[in-house]
Amino acid sequence: MSSVDKEKTSASNNNDDKATPSNSNFIRQIIDGDLEKDKNDSRVHTRFPPEPNGYLHIGHAKSICLNFGLADEYSGLCNLRFDDTNPTKESTEFVESIIEDVKWLGFDWEDRLYYASDYFDKLYDFAVQLIKAGKAFVDDLTYEEIREYRGTLTTPGKNSPYRDRSIEENLDLFERMRNGEFEKGSKVLRAKIDMASPNMNMRDPVIYRIMDTHHHRSGDDWCIYPMYDFTHGLSDSLEGITHSICTLEFEDHRPLYDWFLEELDVFHPQQIEFARLNLNYTVMSKRKLRRLVEEGFVSGWDDPRMPTISGLRRRGYTPEAIRNFCEMIGVAKSNSTVDIAQLEFCIREDLNKRAARVMAVLDPLKLVVTNYPKDQVEELDAENNPEDEAMGKRKIPFSREVYIERSDFMEDPPRKYFRLAPGKEVRLKHAYYVTCTDVIKDSDGNILEVHCTYDPETRGGWSKDGRKVKGTLHWVSCEHAIDAEVRVYDNLFTVPNPESSEEGADFTDSLNPDSLKVIQGCKLEPSLKGVAAGTRFQFLRNGYFIADQDSSADKPVFNRTIGLRNTWAKIQKQQQKS
Ligand code: ATP
Ligand code: MG
Repeated sequence: MSSVDKEKTSASNNNDDKATPSNSNFIRQIIDGDLEKDKNDSRVHTRFPPEPNGYLHIGHAKSICLNFGLADEYSGLCNLRFDDTNPTKESTEFVESIIEDVKWLGFDWEDRLYYASDYFDKLYDFAVQLIKAGKAFVDDLTYEEIREYRGTLTTPGKNSPYRDRSIEENLDLFERMRNGEFEKGSKVLRAKIDMASPNMNMRDPVIYRIMDTHHHRSGDDWCIYPMYDFTHGLSDSLEGITHSICTLEFEDHRPLYDWFLEELDVFHPQQIEFARLNLNYTVMSKRKLRRLVEEGFVSGWDDPRMPTISGLRRRGYTPEAIRNFCEMIGVAKSNSTVDIAQLEFCIREDLNKRAARVMAVLDPLKLVVTNYPKDQVEELDAENNPEDEAMGKRKIPFSREVYIERSDFMEDPPRKYFRLAPGKEVRLKHAYYVTCTDVIKDSDGNILEVHCTYDPETRGGWSKDGRKVKGTLHWVSCEHAIDAEVRVYDNLFTVPNPESSEEGADFTDSLNPDSLKVIQGCKLEPSLKGVAAGTRFQFLRNGYFIADQDSSADKPVFNRTIGLRNTWAKIQKQQQKS
């Protein structure tokens, strides 16, 4: 591991170590070197090349931030290109979601939205050019035979018996493949490189296959489709990409990437690999995310528990927090796993600055202020964000009956309990000091109400005589409260690395059965009436929340984005009790 790598890995485990100096990353060093040599006329041109076979996830966000970020920094350009060469798994739904997500993250490809499928004609011509140069041949071996002939990591492969077909025969067969004369799987076009190469990717890789599948863009124009390795480098070349940044698993493909560009003598971008982002307690491969959606383990790609961009958005994450996270984890050359707590740190930090504070009671218990006039309602001042005075104040109604959090009262408290208990005095936030005088129970001993008296001299929540209280409780006036549904989330998996489940086990075996808790009958302060979906708040002492798209005029639905600290355990205990 180089010193750069070490630095990044340790930074990625440390929440306090904000934004690793970005100019220290090895990709920037490569680009700086290229600019010094005036390589590519000193242009910097990157691309983000998703395959539209699923929704984007937080790992893609890292690649997006890196590619668009570098272009920005070096006054260069970044393209958005769909790598859409595998029509069986791709769809316009995915194309549209990807466009939406990249935009939402805050990046702009201007007029440079491309599709590899738009290059199908050019790619076909490149393949013909390879055949003419004696560098590609049509093979009749079946897929199984090709696999057998390929050899292993320790034994060389064998040449296909069709490898020495004449150029004329190959041109004729390839054209007929294109014209649909052959059965799916009966023929492929392969590059003619070296069946004994120690790099398996160089053992005469397949570059075209017959698929006979409808394509979401090119329709039924093609029944042969180019392979990823062939398509990718040539698409980069056609777009004048200077630095083709991809993840580490493509390192072994680089010789092939270079081979196509050299044999075809076209503009030669440089492929640079970096470590993909892994997060604990979740899965990141699209194939697995797709299974979660298709098998109904989650409500959709945008389920707030998913590590997808759309899931994080619905959960309440901000683009700023995600970009900051990507910056903070840095770019390394060796794989590692980032603690999900680091992502959570970034969103807390961002929402702390921007989210308005409001009061919401998730598990209500009625508190009656017995010496407060029966029909009186006072409008009290409440600051919207102590971190930001410019966010101003609002009025909240106070009345004789308010809801407090059930866990904020204990009849028989332990010694260090600073919240409400018989005979104890606490502050109701922004309102008054109250002292508990009575507990009302049903015949089974369940607590129905607590009765208190208030001190009228403590209006606003401060006592003029300097008397201090240790506990401050949030509350909502009963008469004015809005009923809401609140959805509280926990990790989707119970184990840090669900991808490496034991032999015979499936990653879905370690799904967390308690990853979603739906709480009905939560009480919100009336300022939240008619709140627009997508609005974020801090519910005092309960965490950060966002109004969900499932909200209706008479019942808001809120997703908990993240607790203030780890309050999950507390909520679970409450639920078990009730
Ligand atoms: P998956 O393995 O999740 O299916 P993929 O690599 O097949 O992802 P693509 O749509 O091909 O997904 O990825 C587009 C770009 O995003 C590629 O350049 C890829 O290297 C990058 N990328 C994908 N996953 C990650 C990740 N976890 N961290 C960083 N970059 C990633
Ligand atoms: Mg891929």
